[in-house]
Amino acid sequence: MKKTWLIVMTASLGLLVFTSIAQEQGKKEVMKTQETAPAQPEKKVEKTSEEWKAILTPEQYRVLRQAGTEPANSPVYKQFKEQGGGTYYCAGCNAELFSSKHKFDSHCGWPSFYDASDNKNVVLRDDLSHGMIRTEVLCGKCDGHLGHLFKGEGFDTPKDQRYCINGVTLLFVPEGGKKPEPKK
Ligand SMILES: [Zn+2]
Repeated sequence: MKKTWLIVMTASLGLLVFTSIAQEQGKKEVMKTQETAPAQPEKKVEKTSEEWKAILTPEQYRVLRQAGTEPANSPVYKQFKEQGGGTYYCAGCNAELFSSKHKFDSHCGWPSFYDASDNKNVVLRDDLSHGMIRTEVLCGKCDGHLGHLFKGEGFDTPKDQRYCINGVTLLFVPEGGKKPEPKK
């Protein structure tokens, strides 16, 4: 009996430590922003875990490659809300994903867009994890986890749906940004 409790206690403590580490990392995270639109990947982007770890921050790796979720109302979300017009790309592989034209304030704590149909790089997949039926939103070029899609929540947007996206998975290029350098 005592042993069971010890296991439960240890597991809970472990989860608590893990959660606070994740939140601590989220607090320091910023959304990557650059002046120049990145060159677009022409085909599927495949990398080993080690290669991803070398180019992503630990928080980006946890969200993009391990389907994690950044803390709600993180500094990245604040940054997102303050951004003007522009385009959002995948922080992992640079594929174009969302436009500020479709961004709206859902007050949910994560960057929200009501549409992504302009962009073939945003793909959807059924997600049955954590005992819920949800629609996962992924980057079609690198299969990176971006967030989830929720429909019919009653938002006053042209399409009643919310792409609930983790800000750390995005790279922002403000409107009027330079075109990518042509490949030599
Ligand atoms: Zn990607």
